[in-house]
Amino acid sequence: MFLETKNLTKKFGGLTAVNNVDFSIEKGKINAIIGPNGAGKSTFFNLISGFHPPSSGSIILKGQDITNMPPNKIAEMGIARTFQTTNLFEQSTVLDNVIVGHRLRTKSNLMDAVLRTKRLKREEDRCREKALEVIRFTGLEKVAGKLVGSLTQEEKKRTAFALALATEPEIVFLDEPAAGVNPDETEGLAQLMKKMVDTGITVCLIEHKMQMIMKLADKIMVLNYGEKISEGTAEEIRNDPAVIKAYLGG
Ligand code: ADP
Ligand code: MG
Repeated sequence: MFLETKNLTKKFGGLTAVNNVDFSIEKGKINAIIGPNGAGKSTFFNLISGFHPPSSGSIILKGQDITNMPPNKIAEMGIARTFQTTNLFEQSTVLDNVIVGHRLRTKSNLMDAVLRTKRLKREEDRCREKALEVIRFTGLEKVAGKLVGSLTQEEKKRTAFALALATEPEIVFLDEPAAGVNPDETEGLAQLMKKMVDTGITVCLIEHKMQMIMKLADKIMVLNYGEKISEGTAEEIRNDPAVIKAYLGG
């Protein structure tokens, strides 16, 4: 199994945000997590990416237990994520934002940097090259020099993708990647996710846009009040009475 959670649980005081969730992410596929507001979807991502320690349960990546690893270590293991409210530097250019994203992965040693400026220069060049590559991949060439603050919502979403891709991940977790963009732009972002999968990256996304998810996802997990209430293909989910009930608020 590529990445799996076992009995994963997160409690915030008396509230159980994620309750005993077993989920396995399939390699090279588009995996999705859906569920009503407050169902625990973002918290689930926060657990996997190391931003919150789980209350109990475990997270296994390619057979290795990564539970309780710090976020930077998890990023080094090939797991990248975007945030629901994009955490971009609005006063910097797209290119600079992406270069910073890449640096997080290359972790050059400060002493090395001081002693060997040549090596540092090589690393800087490599950073820039990688940033330009992911900017092309995400279709942002034309706005690479613009300030992020001046971009459209869709371009910001693409920049968040680029930032995640700059760390050369094996899996990307995208939290509501199409929130606040129009249907045409949503389709463009869906195509970009397919392109990621075509290059061998595994995708896991949280999304509210049902039509998009039903067309795009190979595998879907449904959370409700922190619990997994259903899992399967779009067809299986669509016809599951538990899912219908959760969405109708029954
Ligand atoms: P979703 O992404 O599915 O909308 P969240 O994972 O953001 O849901 O939230 C799940 C539940 O956990 C909500 O009730 C939310 O208020 C609560 N929650 C999320 N993060 C925290 C936190 N850092 N501290 C306390 N409660 C939190
Ligand atoms: Mg959320």
